[in-house]
Amino acid sequence: MKTIAIIGGGTGGVTAANKLYHNLKDEVERNLVKIVLFDKKDYHVFYPGLLFYSLGLLDEEDVLVKNIKDLINPGIELKIEEVTEVNLDDRKIITVNKKEYSYDYLVISTGVEYNWERIPGLRGNMLTFYDLDGARKIRNLLQNIKEGTTIVISVTKLPYPCIPVPMSFAILLKDLFKDKINVIYTAPVAPEDFIEEIFNKKGIEDRSPLIVESVTKNSIKFQDGEEIKYDLLIGVPPAEGTNLAKTLPFSSKSGWLTVDRNTLNPLDYNEVFVIGDATDFSGIKTIASAVSQADVVSKRITEEISGGEAKTKYDGFVSCFIITELGKAVMSTYNYDTHLPYSPPSEFLWNFAFRFHKIYWDYIALSSP
Ligand SMILES: Cc1cc2nc3c(=O)[nH]c(=O)nc-3n(C[C@H](O)[C@H](O)[C@H](O)COP(=O)(O)OP(=O)(O)OC[C@H]3O[C@@H](n4cnc5c(N)ncnc54)[C@H](O)[C@@H]3O)c2cc1C
Repeated sequence: MKTIAIIGGGTGGVTAANKLYHNLKDEVERNLVKIVLFDKKDYHVFYPGLLFYSLGLLDEEDVLVKNIKDLINPGIELKIEEVTEVNLDDRKIITVNKKEYSYDYLVISTGVEYNWERIPGLRGNMLTFYDLDGARKIRNLLQNIKEGTTIVISVTKLPYPCIPVPMSFAILLKDLFKDKINVIYTAPVAPEDFIEEIFNKKGIEDRSPLIVESVTKNSIKFQDGEEIKYDLLIGVPPAEGTNLAKTLPFSSKSGWLTVDRNTLNPLDYNEVFVIGDATDFSGIKTIASAVSQADVVSKRITEEISGGEAKTKYDGFVSCFIITELGKAVMSTYNYDTHLPYSPPSEFLWNFAFRFHKIYWDYIALSSP
């Protein structure tokens, strides 16, 4: 019996589990293969919806969160237990309750954690729509926003999930509240020229590149000595790999996991794979890349279990929406070799982005036949 353990029941983990089940259904039914999925919580969040939800554009909270057990095939074992240690030499997972589980193959898809303490004053002063709780708070505050409010939207550190999202947020915020509010945007790198043009046209003041040093109740200070006053500070706190990721020998100081860019294996551990936001790939932390990597990993494991050689490779596929105005969007699609030209902003792509949750839930559930 071969055991495939997957840590993380988010986009990458659930997709990998379902695809592995699909590829190895016969072997699972004949007890030759076991697929075990671990998550520390029993629910799965659809993150792109938080953008629209925090701005009051999307109302239904039930499109944002679903139980992991409803997204996976019943033939997959689900363990709601936090993994606290991976013993790579003995091929064992240890959970918070000190339970041990052996594996033959391991897929790590643990996503990111936000390190609020990294910047003095950040916690308690910055709000984020990068988690559900923060999105709810922003949504409530925006309902009673006063004339003349200055909102600073600040990206604190690179890399972070889905690069265009804070820019899309700034654009939608200005379209919704127009001259009632002032919007200032800062990030460690300046946005692409075409976004800069949209910012200029809409009156969004871009002060990038700036690196946040500290935050107080009404001002944000940057490493070059600049200071910006705000009434409301919304942004992306410093994203890092998880505490579990930081314990692994192939982790960077910030917890990003270094893997081969095509096979997704860490050096010296061909039975281990890392996918999704947990990898040290920057600019590749999106749903499309997590799903594509889950596909590659499930094929590589299937190829080996079926007695062959693992041949399938990840090509660096990324695709994500950029909102260009309320009702219009473009798609950014690239891989390691090519960046496709942007299509003109369209209502079609806006509808695709706005209703993406329908495709997302169906796709994730559909990859579980
Ligand atoms: C606000 C926002 C908007 C976004 N918009 C888009 C978009 O428009 N398009 C797009 O393509 N992408 C978007 N993204 C990015 C996309 O959501 C992520 O890239 C994707 O969810 C990454 O999947 P993942 O499996 O790596 O991590 P996640 O989906 O975050 O899953 C990680 C899972 O691991 C679990 N876990 C962590 N540590 C442990 C542990 N020790 N033990 C057990 N379980 C553990 C967590 O509980 C979690 O369930 C957005 C992200 C955000 C935050």
